Amino acid sequence: MNIKEKDREYIASTYNRFPIEIVGGKGSVLRDETGKEYIDMGSGIGVTSFGIADEKWQQAITDQISKVQHTSNLYYTDPCVILAEKLCLKTGMKKVFFSNSGAEANECAIKAARKYAAEKKGGDHFTVITLKNSFHGRTLTTLAATGQEHYHELFTPLTPGFAHVEAGNLEELKKTAEETKAAAIMIECVQGEGGVIPLDPDYVRGVYDYAAENDIILITDEVQTGNGRSGMLYSYMNYGIKPDIVSTAKGLAGGLPLGATLLGEKVKDVFGFGDHGSTFGGNPVCCAAAISIIDRIDDALLDEVKEKSRYIFGEFEGADGVESVSGLGLMIGIKTVKSASEVVKTAMENGVLCLTAKDKVRLLPALNIPMNVLEKAVKNIKSACASK
Ligand SMILES: *Cc1c(COP(=O)(O)O)cnc(C)c1O
Repeated sequence: MNIKEKDREYIASTYNRFPIEIVGGKGSVLRDETGKEYIDMGSGIGVTSFGIADEKWQQAITDQISKVQHTSNLYYTDPCVILAEKLCLKTGMKKVFFSNSGAEANECAIKAARKYAAEKKGGDHFTVITLKNSFHGRTLTTLAATGQEHYHELFTPLTPGFAHVEAGNLEELKKTAEETKAAAIMIECVQGEGGVIPLDPDYVRGVYDYAAENDIILITDEVQTGNGRSGMLYSYMNYGIKPDIVSTAKGLAGGLPLGATLLGEKVKDVFGFGDHGSTFGGNPVCCAAAISIIDRIDDALLDEVKEKSRYIFGEFEGADGVESVSGLGLMIGIKTVKSASEVVKTAMENGVLCLTAKDKVRLLPALNIPMNVLEKAVKNIKSACASK
């Protein structure tokens, strides 16, 4: 059996993979088993922030792995502390809990919000309000948080205590929060899996004000939007708000598994010993990788992200076969006349890897994709969108 046949034999059938095997690459160029090269416009779903086999990132990992690869959280290690300090200083958040994935970062955020509300207002204040069309993860609790019914089917009963409201409708949110005695509101400032849809700034501001006035914990899920992707370090910074909790993962460690839940002033001390934990959380190698990523997301890089974003919007808006373009920074959704999957297939055949989100072609290139490589990819994707 070749590797594709063996995969179908031995790997659980949860992924409908494209028919190529990635064997290597450099930066924003990937190579398959036949030697064919592709420009990577997906970054492993927003994970490889500085591309494949980036040298500074590799150095940070090899330095740490040659010292100590894991200790458990029974002992002090330095990479997780340095990383937590950097994240707090750059955001104004106060403490960090480390885990291994986006779903886990959200689980921690939900636990923190529930404990805060239970202590402050009583155990009947447990509901977490999220938005319809949101995506917050695949564990049974984060599935319950996810406001898309089709993910829930046949996995019920899910964790109780979640309510979903329409994005943009502040009155519905307030009414639901009152009726359910909400503990928290959790939003993605740009809905990623839901179709790369930025929330309306007035709405986000309204949610923030309402949550602050009513001592409801505001969580921003920055798993996909975080770590420079939106043109700011975290996407909430585009909206002039300050959440109580920020969850992030995907691009944080540039390709190693790491989740982080950033706890603001209200909840910084909500957890006591034994309240939460993770065997691998804060792993020194993953944290060393993340330090190397966070250190490079400076104003100059963020300006570059915004510049490339403007370029991509400019190229696709009004282009042949393109209905609309949405998104923020290097998180872009393109509604095409042809089906998104057809466009992605054609682009792949022509040497560009793209993603989809609902009915859109989704682009999440590396933050440092070189301009000439980006131009080539855009040209290619435009031709895949075009009527002929
Ligand atoms: C990908 C994603 C998650 C889930 O992250 P995992 O690492 O797959 O658990 C949660 N929230 C958002 C917004 C995401 O994009």
